[in-house]
Amino acid sequence: MYDVVIIGCGVIGAAAAYELARYDLKIAVLESENDVATGSSKANSAILHAGYDPMPGTLMAKLNVEGNEMAFRIAEKLHVPVERCGSLVVAFDENDEEHINELYRRGLANGVPGLSIITGEEARKLEPDLSGEIRAALLAESAGIISPWDYTLAMAEVAVKNGVELYLDTRVTAIEKGDHFTVRSSKGAEFEARYVINAAGVNSDIISGLVGDREFSVRPTAGEYFLLDKSEGSRVSRVIFQCPNELGKGVLVSKTVHGNLIVGPNAVETTRGNTSTTQEGLAFVRRTALRSVPSIQFRENIRNFAGIRANTEYDEFIIGESRSAKGFLNLAGIKSPGLTASAAIGKYAGELLRKMGLSMKEKEQFDDTREVVRFRELSEEEKNELIRKDPAYGRVICRCETVTEGEIVAALHSIIPARTVNGVKRRCNAGMGRCQGGFCSPRVCRIIARELGIDETEVLEEKEGSNILYSRLKEV
Ligand SMILES: Cc1cc2nc3c(=O)[nH]c(=O)nc-3n(C[C@H](O)[C@H](O)[C@H](O)COP(=O)(O)OP(=O)(O)OC[C@H]3O[C@@H](n4cnc5c(N)ncnc54)[C@H](O)[C@@H]3O)c2cc1C
Repeated sequence: MYDVVIIGCGVIGAAAAYELARYDLKIAVLESENDVATGSSKANSAILHAGYDPMPGTLMAKLNVEGNEMAFRIAEKLHVPVERCGSLVVAFDENDEEHINELYRRGLANGVPGLSIITGEEARKLEPDLSGEIRAALLAESAGIISPWDYTLAMAEVAVKNGVELYLDTRVTAIEKGDHFTVRSSKGAEFEARYVINAAGVNSDIISGLVGDREFSVRPTAGEYFLLDKSEGSRVSRVIFQCPNELGKGVLVSKTVHGNLIVGPNAVETTRGNTSTTQEGLAFVRRTALRSVPSIQFRENIRNFAGIRANTEYDEFIIGESRSAKGFLNLAGIKSPGLTASAAIGKYAGELLRKMGLSMKEKEQFDDTREVVRFRELSEEEKNELIRKDPAYGRVICRCETVTEGEIVAALHSIIPARTVNGVKRRCNAGMGRCQGGFCSPRVCRIIARELGIDETEVLEEKEGSNILYSRLKEV
């Protein structure tokens, strides 16, 4: 019998597991996909929001501000790429100026540090590429950028290292409630649990429906992006937002922690799982972004992608014990700023479980560390030393990002091992560069097949059915 079963291993499930792993509890995380962070947590703007946007007094405001601080602390400790670069919300006209004044007031009420309203001229001094049309801006010094998938992975890895059991390829299909929960999965495996956490993202309403809770419904809302080459990465040095609207935080322009430029998203209602991009959507994003930063060179685009927000009918996270099933905790409908708030949501989930009756005794030992080797970040001496120990670190597989065979092999044998080409990419950046895997993916495929002891035709790009090779050519 598990004390807690967590459904979903995006950043919210991972953060809950990371928090609960500190206690003497038997915990399982059930994830339908073959890796962690394959849902919204891998396809978003990757911003650590300062916290001026949510309405004062809401849970969202509190968890955003707390989560921002916690994210920087955790990311630095667990070697997740992160940078406190600050953000600007720009105003083009009087309405926008009123809006940023309102955001400023909300920010003060929410306890956001480092907020000020600056003139258009001052904004252009900070960011010379900003449009001459900008009349004023809200500067938020506490905002930042992070690698969202590495943040998720890092928290999940520490949880697993401390005894949490992670079951991948395990889609929850039914939940029965007697004096405890029986959680059934697609593979036929059953998990008995005293408490269940619903962290299933865009599917969180379906999961709560399994215990008869129909108090909210997810309205999946897509956001489409451009990811530009590093040659555009220094176009701005802060996150540049426009004024938000009811569907999302508006189109932003930002550098990423990997040195690229990200531009997006729009907000279009869609269906679950539809992460396709559209010509129309991207044209809107491009047009809107050029209003803030007219010099963006879109010909340097290297990838388009879309992420799906778990928007609901409420302007609030849905967090709390379900009224339909005692012991069932919803961490549901976690839309933006969910990435920022995640660690605070995980901590709050622990507090709620305790109030719900779970007895939580801290473990004597909790290993809150994570080692990651990033070859390109080492000094020449460190590189030479590593190559002496393991010559695989001397073979560069991804030329754009300087990723070595040693790093790829380490990713395939890590605590939550990569099993796909994108899993390798998320763990060590192979394929993230200008050529987007054109050069390295056949080599990565070969290494995956060799290390996992499978045929190359079985190697997946990401999800089930995404095989890269279909058959071998017959030798003639
Ligand atoms: C376009 C966009 C931009 C955003 N930008 C930002 C931003 O800049 N900053 C910010 O703070 N937030 C941002 N967000 C919000 C943030 O990405 C989300 O709040 C966060 O990723 C939600 O995490 P999650 O774990 O709830 O969902 P997910 O990451 O989607 O994880 C849910 C997991 O549950 C699994 N699952 C689903 N059904 C089942 C089942 N039946 N059985 C088992 N597992 C299941 C899924 O496979 C998935 O892995 C953005 C979101 C989007 C879409």
